[in-house]
Amino acid sequence: MYDIIIVGAGPAGLSAAVYGLRAGKSVLLLEKESYGGQIINTPEIENYPGIKKISGYEFAENLYQQAVDLGAKLLYEAVTAIETEKEIKKVLTAENEYLCKAVILATGARHRRLGIEREEEFAGRGVSYCATCDGMFFKGKDVAVAGGGNTALQDALFLSNYCKKVYLIHRREEFRGEKRLADALREKENVEFVLNCQVTALNGENTLTSVTVRDKNTEKEKELFVNGIFIAVGQEPQSQIVQNLIDTDKGGYIISGEDCDTNCSGVFTAGDCRTKSIRQLATAVSDGAVAALKACEYMETC
Ligand code: NAP
Repeated sequence: MYDIIIVGAGPAGLSAAVYGLRAGKSVLLLEKESYGGQIINTPEIENYPGIKKISGYEFAENLYQQAVDLGAKLLYEAVTAIETEKEIKKVLTAENEYLCKAVILATGARHRRLGIEREEEFAGRGVSYCATCDGMFFKGKDVAVAGGGNTALQDALFLSNYCKKVYLIHRREEFRGEKRLADALREKENVEFVLNCQVTALNGENTLTSVTVRDKNTEKEKELFVNGIFIAVGQEPQSQIVQNLIDTDKGGYIISGEDCDTNCSGVFTAGDCRTKSIRQLATAVSDGAVAALKACEYMETC
């Protein structure tokens, strides 16, 4: 029996653990992959207040150590369901069930798929969702990036440093990402913007050799010969395990306000899986602190 079970050991979950433990509560973290969440793929963090520059990996490592040193227990088990009918909550994994007084959902978000044929088939064979993880495999080759947000722009910049050619495919004329990043890309001779275009096909035998794009204005299709495509079309929340338990919005984000509470008493949420307008490292760790302290408050009053 734990005071708090935290589902997900990314920055939000680990911060919640630090705050929960410092408040004297027992904390179990359940994580289905590895601790650190998506931030471990960020080569350099330069916008975290108080730290001028740090790699995502080092940040995650520090936060993990901080939680472990305070007494956090982390188990690598995927949560399959949560039962909350009684005051004591039950958190189920494939192997076990755990009991606690309060749950914090910090399950984060995952890369959104483009949703086109052969996307899964080519994953790891030309299709990637992480330029910093897989970019080096495409050194000296031609690649494409799909998307128009900050991630796509940053990925294109990163790849332009060692790929021969980078096509940036975006479905609109204007980028959603920051102007300074788009301007930096315009300066790059090996970057070509493919605007108002949607990727319609991924082609190749065993590995990707080209992508087909359709111009939204002319409806004309053309083939771009690339060995890799980096898909950076946003995120989707990992909230499937609570879909029938907790209220979510149309996009699947767990509905919660500034207090990080949910419609379910004793269940809190933190980080990218919840409804909010700014999803940044700073806001994720801030959520973790709020959710943990609110969970402590709940335990004192229930
Ligand atoms: P995002 O801002 O949501 O952008 C997703 C992009 O993908 C949009 O341009 C969108 O097009 C496009 N898109 C979505 N679905 C698509 C589809 N099915 N087919 C083709 N294109 C599609 O996602 P993000 O770039 O991953 O960024 C997520 C958040 O992290 C944002 O708040 C971002 O600012 C932040 N971030 C910040 C930094 C930083 O350095 N400050 C770095 C990375 C990310 P439309 O524009 O037409 O909707």
